[in-house]
Amino acid sequence: MLEYIVEIEHVYKSFPGVKALDDVSFHLKSGEVLALLGENGAGKSTLMKVLSGIYTRDSGDITIFGEKIGVLTPKKAQELGVAIIHQELNMCAHLSIAENIFLGREKSHSGLLSNKEMNKQAKAILDRLNIDLDPETIVGDLTVSKQQMVEIAKALSTNAKILIMDEPTSALTSKEIDDLFGIIRKLRDEGCGIVYISHRLEELQYIVDRVTIMRDGRHITTMNFAETTMQEIIENMVGREIKEKFPKVVCERGKKILEIKNLNVGRLVRDISFDIYEGEIVGIAGLLGAGRTETTRAIFGVDPKESGEIILNGEPLTINKPMDAIKAGIVLAPEDRKKDGLCTKLSVRDNIALPNLDILCNALGVVNKGKEDEMVEDTISKLTIKLPNAEVDAISLSGGNQQKVVVGKWLARNSHVVIFDEPTRGIDVAAKVEIYNLMNDLKMQGIGVFFISSEMPEIMGISDRILVMCDGRITGELNIEDATQNLILEYATKFDSKVITSNAQ
Ligand code: ADP
Ligand code: MG
Repeated sequence: MLEYIVEIEHVYKSFPGVKALDDVSFHLKSGEVLALLGENGAGKSTLMKVLSGIYTRDSGDITIFGEKIGVLTPKKAQELGVAIIHQELNMCAHLSIAENIFLGREKSHSGLLSNKEMNKQAKAILDRLNIDLDPETIVGDLTVSKQQMVEIAKALSTNAKILIMDEPTSALTSKEIDDLFGIIRKLRDEGCGIVYISHRLEELQYIVDRVTIMRDGRHITTMNFAETTMQEIIENMVGREIKEKFPKVVCERGKKILEIKNLNVGRLVRDISFDIYEGEIVGIAGLLGAGRTETTRAIFGVDPKESGEIILNGEPLTINKPMDAIKAGIVLAPEDRKKDGLCTKLSVRDNIALPNLDILCNALGVVNKGKEDEMVEDTISKLTIKLPNAEVDAISLSGGNQQKVVVGKWLARNSHVVIFDEPTRGIDVAAKVEIYNLMNDLKMQGIGVFFISSEMPEIMGISDRILVMCDGRITGELNIEDATQNLILEYATKFDSKVITSNAQ
């Protein structure tokens, strides 16, 4: 009997500018649930995509069921019994459950598709998982959790022996999580090896046998779950030292600029209240799906609020759409700046001037060229945007300078609050420092800076105050002097319901 059904040794995988996997080794046994843990960007998904043939490794060895594998394609991985269930589901909404399960492998009977046979086999798989669903139901009519169960059924129909689940519970209710755990335990008892990726540390105790922790693309440790503690797991996830350098400026905290009171939008923005003062950077920490982006979208008027007040410099605002926020002086540098923040095909000049035409045009709608030149030059010099001239395409700038254009175009209108959503994602270290300097500049000009980041060192290094969100609520607020990575992570995993109940072991 093989001790390990998956042996990954010294695997490397780089993307342009990132070492996503840096000498990672990983081992999985049959009949175990292994939790793969790490902060956002640690390399968990990449490692599992390598194992399922979606990404090709740069180097390193992979052995599956004792067979050393050369080129691993998705098809080869499936033949070997590897199945991956992604966080985003991959279903055809207009097809039935049976059709989805057998998609691409439709059962044919003398050349014709045999629906009857497919339905029968699909039913057998659903029964094996104790899933009470009619195989002829259209998948689009199912809840997310039921769709996920169909994905699992699909994986099993290919005889999966190695099942990878990448954050499967993030969209589920507690009852649904219970059901999912029931299925996971059943598969484990049948001898499947299961890799379970989740940010919900408190749920691990119900299903997990071992944990493997990754950080910065490296394997940090693997431990038996029963022999470790939450404290030890968290310490290994966050690491102890902050490696990057953060330029920190200290200013006097001034008057209150922005006040958010009892904001509610759906499940991910629940009773959010906080203030921002002049001369401070407020960081907002939390794990994927905590509701941080949704909160900023609600403030900015992208999504309609159910209730709540937004008060700027003492005046209540009515914000129903982004333009209302912009006109009032609240601006957002969105997460995906190429998609939402910048017209990459336009010149830097146009990127700065176009959104401000309302103040650049005279009553007849004619642009005042002198005013435009002044605005463009001012913005470029104030934010020290590095470029040959304002006519170059925005796409040609470095990530840090692009970000400055995104923000700069709004600052030209005398803004009071700037919200940054993951401003340093996907940019190199030097550009990151440029953005930290930009945030510091804004802070010194008396502009309130509010920023979302999933990178703990950055949140700790640049904020004056930190709000932590989990599951749509603010679960903690820390002055920077009191903040520790462990404390932030503790708040970030403070789910309000004890999710697991009935069939927990
Ligand atoms: P995790 O799943 O632990 O959050 P990932 O494996 O998704 O982490 O990412 C690890 C690193 O690799 C991150 O820096 C991420 O930005 C980068 N990365 C992942 N996939 C790609 C890709 N397709 N192209 C470029 N960079 C990527
Ligand atoms: Mg991931």
